[in-house]
Amino acid sequence: MTAGAGETPAEQRWLVAANVVRWRRYGEDGQELRPGTKSYRGGSKIYVIETYAGAGHEQLTTIGRGRHTGTYIAIDMATRNLHTFRAVPVHSPTVLRLCEEAGVGGCWTNRQDAEELAARLGPLAAGYRTAHWASPHPVPCRCHECLTLSSG
Ligand SMILES: [Zn+2]
Repeated sequence: MTAGAGETPAEQRWLVAANVVRWRRYGEDGQELRPGTKSYRGGSKIYVIETYAGAGHEQLTTIGRGRHTGTYIAIDMATRNLHTFRAVPVHSPTVLRLCEEAGVGGCWTNRQDAEELAARLGPLAAGYRTAHWASPHPVPCRCHECLTLSSG
């Protein structure tokens, strides 16, 4: 595919996409359930634009459509509230602009780097969920692990 005369080729970057958990455990000992997170609806797709290599990956900077406004926001959130990390090519000028404005190193042009990060974050997120909530799950429970088990 080539751009026509006078057109700039569409910019593309590789980012790590993930989905926000439908329900997260909440409250003392994680015995309550809340849909999505404060900023994002459950199930919404977000892009990871930064990880804190020095401090582990418990927190990620993300871009996604905000729960209340539906417009793109950039916000830090807990990795444990995300799942299904995968590398995706991104063309959205809005997402790419927010990525630039955040001034971080997470807007890859390289597919392989994004794929490697996605492969690392999946198991980490599952581990953080387990580590964060040491107490038994509420009954019934709709957290990511329990939903995944019951739909399988
Ligand atoms: Zn559960």
